[in-house]
Amino acid sequence: MGIRVSPILTLLLLFVSALPSSAHAEWLQRTDAIMGTRIYVELWHEDRAKGNAAIDAVMAEMRRIDELMSHYKPESQLSQINARAAQEPVQVNPELFDLIKLSTHFSEVTEGAFDITYASVGHLYDFRRHVKPTEAEIKAALPAVNWRNMLLDEQHHTVRFEHAGMRIDLGGIGKGYAVDRGIALLQSRGIQHAVVTAGGDSRIIGDHMGRPWLVAIRHPDDPNKVVTRIPLVDTAMSTSGDYERYFDEKGVRYHHIIDPHTGHSASKVRSATLLGPTATQTDGMSKTAFVLGPDKALQIINRMPEYDAVFVCPDGRVLYSNGLRPPAPRPKSSATSTLDSGVPKSGAPPKSTPQ
Ligand code: ADP
Ligand code: MG
Repeated sequence: MGIRVSPILTLLLLFVSALPSSAHAEWLQRTDAIMGTRIYVELWHEDRAKGNAAIDAVMAEMRRIDELMSHYKPESQLSQINARAAQEPVQVNPELFDLIKLSTHFSEVTEGAFDITYASVGHLYDFRRHVKPTEAEIKAALPAVNWRNMLLDEQHHTVRFEHAGMRIDLGGIGKGYAVDRGIALLQSRGIQHAVVTAGGDSRIIGDHMGRPWLVAIRHPDDPNKVVTRIPLVDTAMSTSGDYERYFDEKGVRYHHIIDPHTGHSASKVRSATLLGPTATQTDGMSKTAFVLGPDKALQIINRMPEYDAVFVCPDGRVLYSNGLRPPAPRPKSSATSTLDSGVPKSGAPPKSTPQ
């Protein structure tokens, strides 16, 4: 898959970063709160002012996307769809149209595990206020969950709901999309080493001081404990967890990742982390993997060389896709015979269980 951690590459980059031309370059970081989440940008730039201007541009882009796609903001185009699309086709800007279309593509290939119309039921939950729908309310709302009942007119960029009570929300893909837009902006400014994060979605370009970026997957029950760390270069990564927005009642966890087929919170895993080429893809895939659970999701992911996944299961087991598994032990005779001896494929972490 896309996690490229080659010792040769690492050596080359170490060499490059020791050249005199980089003497005034520096790492710049900034954190902001946008899209209801934490945005973090870190990058390497020769020129501090230009580096900071690039970070400004990423933050401005995140705000622009939020204004367009937030389902919390009544004036956003997305809210306009939810308010009117059951009565008439609603015209939206091509960018929003394209993301909605891409979402339906995800629904198609995941047989509806990812479905932005999940919101027809999803809006009945309010995790902050500990509100959940009754079984009767879920039953009444569930027929409106079906991406096939959303008519997308390519020519006029309109969205029409064919079912009363339908709603959409892009919370499951919008942050990944915003991260990709942020990375594209940085790349257009010639930046080659950076990370952009929006909540659980991140994308990395280049390495970090000649080494892979080390990204941690947290323990579901303790934000200060790390389940595993993954070294990454030029990769996107998204984690969906049942600990982000939730409440517990009578031993049941009600949280924000909803199985569109049942209207209930999905419960096969505690967290699903996806690695892949773009954050839009890994964001969509992390909900899919969460809803499908590790057995089904790993079957699919192991057939897709550009993706990898890490699951934290309810019993504490940590499962890795094939691309992240430690290699089988080498025969003794070949142990020191090659340059990369002892380096697991993809710089993979050893199998571990939560501490
Ligand atoms: P974050 O919001 O931190 O990026 P996730 O990537 O796990 O977290 O996305 C969770 C969000 O995805 C939910 O808050 C909701 O908006 C949306 N969502 C939940 N279930 C689904 C689903 N089955 N299909 C599509 N989107 C979903
Ligand atoms: Mg996400």
